[in-house]
Amino acid sequence: MPAPHDAVSPPHLRFAPSPNGRLHLGHAYSALLNDQIAKRLGGRCLLRIEDIDPGRSRPELISAIEDDLAWLGLSYERPVRRQSEHLNLYRAALDGLIARDLAYPCFCSRGVIQARVAQMQAEGTEIDRDPDGTPLYPGTCRALPAEESAALRSQGAPHTWRLDMARALEVAPGRHRVRCFEPDGSEAVVSADPSRWGDAVIARRDVPTSYHLSVVLDDDIQGISHVVRGSDLLAATDLHALLQRLLGLRSPAYHHHRLIMAEDGEKLAKSRGSETLGDLRARGVTAEEVRRKLGF
Ligand code: GLU
Repeated sequence: MPAPHDAVSPPHLRFAPSPNGRLHLGHAYSALLNDQIAKRLGGRCLLRIEDIDPGRSRPELISAIEDDLAWLGLSYERPVRRQSEHLNLYRAALDGLIARDLAYPCFCSRGVIQARVAQMQAEGTEIDRDPDGTPLYPGTCRALPAEESAALRSQGAPHTWRLDMARALEVAPGRHRVRCFEPDGSEAVVSADPSRWGDAVIARRDVPTSYHLSVVLDDDIQGISHVVRGSDLLAATDLHALLQRLLGLRSPAYHHHRLIMAEDGEKLAKSRGSETLGDLRARGVTAEEVRRKLGF
């Protein structure tokens, strides 16, 4: 189990949106719940902007997020941490994993991976899927000779960095566990199975990090003792527990809350045209009504 977070006094929570769209009711629920639990535990809730995606994160969306949160009645300490300002720190952690042979460069495009998986399946190999339903990476680049991989990198071939899961589990052996908590503060320890993510991408092509790597580093740096986030990230916590152990980071307790669904029972998402808080505001819905609708 990663080192448990020392009983931080006061408890630290965070709301950590990615500025690649306007906030919707699901974000509002998460932000309000973080605020409510922080108050109940006598702690602080920080805002963190997870803007590592250079293609999708837009500055005007960061202002819109802060404006929507203020409209909801939530205020946060300044300065607000923005992940894009800490890429060197994530790179240093990634370099550390590479130096320990725990990560390798992967030059496969999505299409190449799909073709390889299809070929292996046609040959009768069963390929497991990760918790998001994506077939596990078949390990093609793990087997690439070091000279070949170095040559590709020196030619500037685009590549991600993948965690070598088998090596990682050798370095961090034994049972993996996550501390979970309920809004009243009661805790339970549950088993985690990081291996179900296979050789997960820990650094994207365009930035020397990924959601998984930045989130565990920032939670440690910001002294986050309690993570409150949507149940869509429940399975990711298994990978986070492993990364925390590999990197010697403290591990918060987690509460994964229910997701707010659209009227049709589907997940709220920008890509599905879900109504944003901005849309609600524009048609005259008040913050009070939003809070009440969400149970606050
Ligand atoms: N940035 C993530 C999101 O907007 C949340 C990350 C987290 O809470 O761990 O979905």
